[in-house]
Amino acid sequence: RAKSNPLQRICFYEAGMDERIRERRALAADLRDAISHNQLTLHYQVQTIVSTGRIRGYEALLRWNHPRLGQIPPSEFIPLAEESGLILSIGEWVLYTACREAVTWEPPYTIAVNLSAVQFINADLPEIVRKVLAETGLAPERLELELTESTIFADRERSLDLLRQIRALKVSIALDDFGTGYSSLDTLRSFTFDRIKIDRSFFSASEATTQTTAIIRAVLALGKSFGIPVMAEGIETYDQLSMLNVEGCEEAQGFLLGHPVTVDDIIRKGQIARLNGGPDGAGAVDMR
Ligand code: C2E
Ligand code: MG
Ligand code: MG
Ligand code: MG
Repeated sequence: RAKSNPLQRICFYEAGMDERIRERRALAADLRDAISHNQLTLHYQVQTIVSTGRIRGYEALLRWNHPRLGQIPPSEFIPLAEESGLILSIGEWVLYTACREAVTWEPPYTIAVNLSAVQFINADLPEIVRKVLAETGLAPERLELELTESTIFADRERSLDLLRQIRALKVSIALDDFGTGYSSLDTLRSFTFDRIKIDRSFFSASEATTQTTAIIRAVLALGKSFGIPVMAEGIETYDQLSMLNVEGCEEAQGFLLGHPVTVDDIIRKGQIARLNGGPDGAGAVDMR
């Protein structure tokens, strides 16, 4: 019946759009209070050395516990935070919280933090990173910032300059989601990274193993010629892990090795101990 009345379909569609826009607006408004109401938390996912099984460090992944809607994934609220500019204060909160947490860890594992393009372009990032390291006391060698190609793509000249300043602080930079971007090879050629993370889409179960292996080999060869390690993302099976081991991929991350979990879960598993009982004044982060 809908087919015979296109106008009705359009009206229905627009009503649905309206509803979605209202929902997005409401969510964006809620997000404004998320930091001050302690609704944001970080989960940590382990990054493993493939050949030894040892832990290299953890990636901080943002979670929003919405009072009514429950846990909202970053893919849904980070775009909202970027549109409203809230990503600047949220991003600074993430960086500060992750560093303040990691500085208490024993062993002193690395901590990886994701950056949004908006943060990268609009904030005085080198100054923020410098300030957070000074305030938390985290050694810069322990911090890694993860960027995607789209982060850099917006303004390559400025990005070159920003990356140079950040690396001068001895903080490392990982190229996240490698292989999914617009011009991955050109990005590798123009910028200096400390690590390549192969996107997890290359490890999806539906893909033929021979093709996956060919891509992994090519990226490993790239990493080798640049003299930087390659980390595989989204490793879910032992088959994938042993393939990485055979091919000589140094590092891996994925549900097989560990899901993103709270720091309490990591402590309970005995993977880290906390020096001095953990971050001081937990929950009451002074952002300014
Ligand atoms: P990402 O940085 O590439 O992070 C990896 C994502 O893959 C995470 O999703 C993680 O939970 C998921 N993942 C890890 N291992 C596996 C696996 O074996 N299988 C599958 N299917 N998935 C796996 P998450 O936490 O939902 O984050 C999604 C994206 O949101 C991140 O992708 C990152 O781009 C962004 N994000 C997360 N936290 C932050 C943050 O604090 N700031 C910014 N700007 N972006 C963030
Ligand atoms: Mg990442
Ligand atoms: Mg990734
Ligand atoms: Mg991603």
